[in-house]
Amino acid sequence: MRASKGGDRSMKCAACGNEMVEKRGEIDLRINTKLYLVRNVCYEECPSCGERVLSPRESQALYEKIKHGEFVEEIFKIPVLEGTC
Ligand SMILES: [Zn+2]
Repeated sequence: MRASKGGDRSMKCAACGNEMVEKRGEIDLRINTKLYLVRNVCYEECPSCGERVLSPRESQALYEKIKHGEFVEEIFKIPVLEGTC
């Protein structure tokens, strides 16, 4: 398998510069003030700091779905914590 280092397949973490790993699963996405849960999505994750990035193609598709209301609404109980600041 040929893979060129620094090619467009390998992404570097914007936060710490580590090589990011492609993953599949669910992520949460905050757009404007709304929080979305996205399932079965491909994303890049930094193994070092946990930074997650969607591919441009994937996020484009998600924005289209949101624009057309192609999502279901589920009720979640989200644990909310207060910080100490
Ligand atoms: Zn990182």
